[in-house]
Amino acid sequence: MSLQRVSFVEAKGSLVRDCPGTKNHICCGYKTIDLIEGCILSCSYCILKYYINADGIKVHGDTPYILSQIEEVINAEKGHILRFGTGELSDSLALDRKYRLNRPLVEFFGEKKRALLELKSKWAGFDHLAPYLNPYTVISFSLAPQRSIDREERRTSPLYKRLKAAKKAQDLGCFVGLHLDPIIIYDGFEKDYEYLIEDIGRLLDLKKVIWISLGLLRFPPKLLDHFIENKRKSLLYGEFIQGEDGKCRYIKGERIKVYRMLYNQLKSKDDELFVYLCMERSDVWKAVTGMTLNESEALIGLFDKRIKTLYGGTI
Ligand code: SF4
Repeated sequence: MSLQRVSFVEAKGSLVRDCPGTKNHICCGYKTIDLIEGCILSCSYCILKYYINADGIKVHGDTPYILSQIEEVINAEKGHILRFGTGELSDSLALDRKYRLNRPLVEFFGEKKRALLELKSKWAGFDHLAPYLNPYTVISFSLAPQRSIDREERRTSPLYKRLKAAKKAQDLGCFVGLHLDPIIIYDGFEKDYEYLIEDIGRLLDLKKVIWISLGLLRFPPKLLDHFIENKRKSLLYGEFIQGEDGKCRYIKGERIKVYRMLYNQLKSKDDELFVYLCMERSDVWKAVTGMTLNESEALIGLFDKRIKTLYGGTI
C-alpha cells in the first residue's frame, strides 16, 4: 500500500511523553508513546507532514526499553488513572499486522491493571491482536462521514468497516473510544454527521463506549499554505482564524454551533455518554456542554471518574 520506507531505529531518549496539548486550551492529560513516527495512510489534512520532517517511517522496536519507561510513568503517578496512546505520531493499527508492535504493550497493560492503553486508528484490521486483548486496552476509531473519508482519507478503512471493527472489539470484551476528529465543514456536512451518529447508535453498544471526542479541523499555518498550493478546497471551506496557540481553526461561533449540534445528538442517543472536546478553550466548553472547566486538571478528573465508573475496583 505504501511507498514509504520503514526503518527500525534505536530507541533512545524519552519515548513516553505528555501529549503536547495546546496553549490556553483544556487538555485531557494524555500520555503518548512514540512507537512509530510517520504513517502510511497519508490523510490530506495530516499534521505529521508539518511535525515530522524526515522521509519514511521510523519504528522504535525496542519494546523492553519502551515498557520500562511506561512502567516508570505509571509508578510515579499517585493521583490519576493514566491513559496512554500510540496514535499521536502514527496510526496505532495500520502497520501492526506486519510489525506486531502492540501485542507486548497490550499484555503489559493487562498484567499491570493500573492504566489504560488506547489504540487509535482509521484502519479496521486487528484480528492478529484479538487473542491478547483485555479490558485494559481501549480500541478506538476516528470516525467521519464516508463522503469525507472518500475525499480526505483515501487509504483508510471505510466507515462501515471501522464501525464493524469497533463492535467486534466490544464483543471481545474491550471498551471502545470514538473520535469524531477532525470534523471538516463542507456543504451538507450536518446531515452526514446526523447519519453517522444514527449509525453509531444503531451498530454499537453505547454502554461500552468509554469516551467520544469531538475536534474540529485545526492545523498550523504552514499547512494552510500547503492546502492552498495543492488546491485542497474541501479543507478551506468556512472561515478560519489563528488561535492563541498559532493554529488555524474555524471561527469560535462556528465551532460552538457545530460542537453543540453533535454533542446534543450524541447525548440524545444516551445521556450517559462521555463526550469531550479535544483542545478547546474553557468558554467553548461552557457554551457547548454547560460545564465550567477552568483548567485541564478538571477534565482529567472527569476522565478518572468515568474510568472508575466503568471499571469499578478493577483498576
Ligand atoms: S491516520 Fe492519522 S497519522 Fe495517519 S495519515 Fe491519517 S491523520 Fe496522519
